[in-house]
Amino acid sequence: MPREIEVKSVLNKSKKRDSWFLSDYSFNPYSSCAFNCLYCYIRGSKYGENLETSLAVKINSIEILEKQLASRAKKGQYGYIVLSSATDPYLKLEKEYKLSRKALELIHAYRFPVHMITKSDLILRDLDILEKIDRDAHIPEGLQAHIRNGCIISFSFSFLNDEYGKIFEPGATPSSQRLKALQEVLSQGFLAGVSLMPLLPFISDTTEHLDLLFSTFKESKVRYVLPASTTLYGEGKADSKTLMMRAIRKHFPKLEKRYLKYFSDGPEMPVYYRNAFYQKMKDICQEYQIHDAILKASRFS
Ligand code: SF4
Repeated sequence: MPREIEVKSVLNKSKKRDSWFLSDYSFNPYSSCAFNCLYCYIRGSKYGENLETSLAVKINSIEILEKQLASRAKKGQYGYIVLSSATDPYLKLEKEYKLSRKALELIHAYRFPVHMITKSDLILRDLDILEKIDRDAHIPEGLQAHIRNGCIISFSFSFLNDEYGKIFEPGATPSSQRLKALQEVLSQGFLAGVSLMPLLPFISDTTEHLDLLFSTFKESKVRYVLPASTTLYGEGKADSKTLMMRAIRKHFPKLEKRYLKYFSDGPEMPVYYRNAFYQKMKDICQEYQIHDAILKASRFS
């Protein structure tokens, strides 16, 4: 039985619209995340080594969300709400609690647009309500000339390999199943794409794996890809750097020296790697003719 907690606020306003995800707000119905990705940025001592053990349901989140949406709507402060930024909106317990579903019903009632970001195929359950949001939402000021879709759907992938998934994302829907869900969403005409965050150095950023990813996404007719390199934090036992290094040592021992060297000075890969990475992403998006930004893809909606 997961812990149930009460919160005072659930609709978090960003200082500035996120240029990649277009989000002005975020809504997280759950605290922590059962998908347990080793590279997850929310990791740290607050949640413990196994994120599932700190999982909590924000039991009053729908009641609070309604108040906050009503207040923002009254002031005309429309903006894309991202579900979710610090958990996945479609964890297994969503089947029972349906907080994401109830939130989407309210979001539709108040005519806010959404950006759904998930690693789960449970999103297919909610395509009926997402279709209504897509049609009826008020597009926020500053974006009206660029996008008409009230619903954007991004599936997160770090690789297309279910065996890697068992190591790095042990609680998440396998990527093969996730891909089928993405294809279903695309076939229903949603503005949908892929967040490639993070691509793992020397594992899924190799030319061979990138070709597999991009050829698969091209064939699936994804509308955009949003790639980013890996960032790993902390030396504590629940930190992403510690957990990733342990997994590399165990499953990819030949890469251990390189990971130690590259992440020795901080959370990010060295500047020369990152420059080469983003150039490579630009080139491969061009080669496969897939947009590298949501607003580029939305022009053709
Ligand atoms: S699904 Fe997202 S929030 Fe959940 S553990 Fe993975 S990266 Fe973190």
